[in-house]
Formats: sequence, C-alpha cells, structure tokens
Amino acid sequence: MARIIAITNQKGGVGKTTTAINLSACMATLGRKVLMVDMDPQGNATSGVGIERADIDECVYDVIIGGSDSRRVVRPGPIEGMEVLPSTLDLAAAEIELATEISRETRLRAGLEPLRENYEYIVIDCPPALGLLTINSLVAANETLIPIQSEYYALEGLVYLFGTVQRVKQHVNSGLKISGVLLTMFDVRTNLSKDVEKEVRREYPRMTMRTVIPRTVRLSEAPAYGKPIILYEPSSKGALAYMELAKEVVQSGEEGPGQGTGRADRFGGVEGGAATRGDTGKGDKA
Ligand code: ATP
Ligand code: MG
Repeated sequence: MARIIAITNQKGGVGKTTTAINLSACMATLGRKVLMVDMDPQGNATSGVGIERADIDECVYDVIIGGSDSRRVVRPGPIEGMEVLPSTLDLAAAEIELATEISRETRLRAGLEPLRENYEYIVIDCPPALGLLTINSLVAANETLIPIQSEYYALEGLVYLFGTVQRVKQHVNSGLKISGVLLTMFDVRTNLSKDVEKEVRREYPRMTMRTVIPRTVRLSEAPAYGKPIILYEPSSKGALAYMELAKEVVQSGEEGPGQGTGRADRFGGVEGGAATRGDTGKGDKA
C-alpha cells in the first residue's frame, strides 16, 4: 500500500510544486514506484514534468467530481517509475462544486483507492489555500510535508495549517501525521537564511527535516523544460539536495520506533507534536 504524502502550505510560492516534482522523481530514481498527484488548478506540477494541456483528456477533476476511474487518468511521468495524475484549470471549479456535494472531503481518498496497490509512494501537490482541495489531500494522505521558504515570516501562518491538520485528524483521518517541515530556497550566502534555519530548528527541533533545499537557478529553470532537476542537471546542488530529501523520506518510513536518529520520533509520534497543539503552533517543544 502506498504511503501518501501531501505537500501543503497555504502560503504561495514556498516550493510545494518544486518539492512535489523533485521528491517524486528522486524517489523514482531510488527505484521506488511513485505517483505524483496534481491537486492545484494552476497545473504547475503537470506542466513541470512536460505534460501538455492539449494532451490531457481527463484530469483529477474528473476523478473527484465526475467519478472517472483514476487508473485511466494516470499518465506516464518524466522518468521510469514515476507516473502522474494531472490537473487542469477545470479543477478550479471543483472547489465550488464540492461545497454542496455529499462526502466532499473524501473524494480524493476514494479516487486514489484503486491506485494505492500500484505504488509505494503517492505525492500530492496542493494549491496555496486551505480550501477543499487541500482538505481532500490531507484526508487522502498518511502524512504531510510542509515546505517553508527560508525568509522572514517563514513560520507565519503555520499555526493555521497545523490547526487544519488537527481538525482533519479529529474528524476524518485520525492517522494523519506531519512528516516534517522542509526549509526551501535556502541562500547560503545570507545570514538571513541561516537565522531562519536556526529559528525553525529551535521551534520545531524534531519536525524539521535534516535536508535543506538550496536556492538555485537550475531548480527554477527545470520546469520550463518539463524536467525534474535529476534529469535536467543531475549533478547540480538542487538535484543532490532533492536526492538527499528522497532518501530521508524513504528512510523515515523504514525506521522502526526507537531506531535511528530521532527521526522515528518525528514521523511516528506526532501525537505529542504540533498537529495536536495547533493552537500554539509550537507543538514540537516538550
Ligand atoms: P504556489 O503556491 O503558487 O503553488 P509553490 O509553493 O508550489 O507555489 P513553487 O512553484 O515550487 O512554489 O516555487 C515558486 C517559485 O520559486 C517557482 O518559480 C520555482 O521555480 C521557484 N523555486 C522553487 N524552489 C526553488 C529553489 N530551491 N531555488 C530557486 N528557485 C526555486
Ligand atoms: Mg505550486
């Protein structure tokens, strides 16, 4: 059964899509079977792996609203071992249409059910909002990975996200965990990035991913070529960082409780963590 990871943050432009594409591609490079699901009507994850709008017959909208069989909607990805459930602008309507539907929060979970046997990982790219598309993703997921930009105000708004995770846990998906907070667009040349990292690790010592994603032009260029960084520039810093992240994520799922370097805590024991203390947003502290 696939481990389902939703990449969430209601803040725009923090690196969700870049992480969804490159984490998926790097896990596939490690020999894992991965499905990337694009839950953002902007369709950046879809176009970023070279799938053209004109070639998309049905998309994730048809799965969650039209009841299409998701197995039919899946497309080959940019790299062996990776497949894609694409999105188009149609999905923008889903947010409104879902509002009046029965079981509106569980549509994606139901839609992914026939696919779960086929993959080891399903990575969901979410839109920059805490609406029904993100809720559907959190309900379908086992865990959520939260990219944050290494800038001032990085932590602003996280408390709302933790609150949403907490409500989803309480009402629909008790097994949901926060797999980690990921620092993205880290600029090694600035003290600001280093200060932000320090602050984030102090606030969330166990939850912060060991891997940090550097700011590199190559990572921002790759989507224009429809390629994950591991194909576009395999020896670049960005590619190495996302490979590191893929290993960290894969490993975290394989560590038993009490093993490893404390990451098992973070992945296994979010009960005592931020997700249950969304009211303070500082749940990682003892
Ligand atoms: P949205 O909320 O709009 O969906 P997002 O959170 O998905 O945005 P991305 O689209 O991944 O964020 O990234 C925002 C912009 O920053 C993009 O132009 C992307 O190419 C660029 N970018 C992302 N990560 C990096 C990085 N590590 N280094 C340089 N540029 C980056
Ligand atoms: Mg995005």
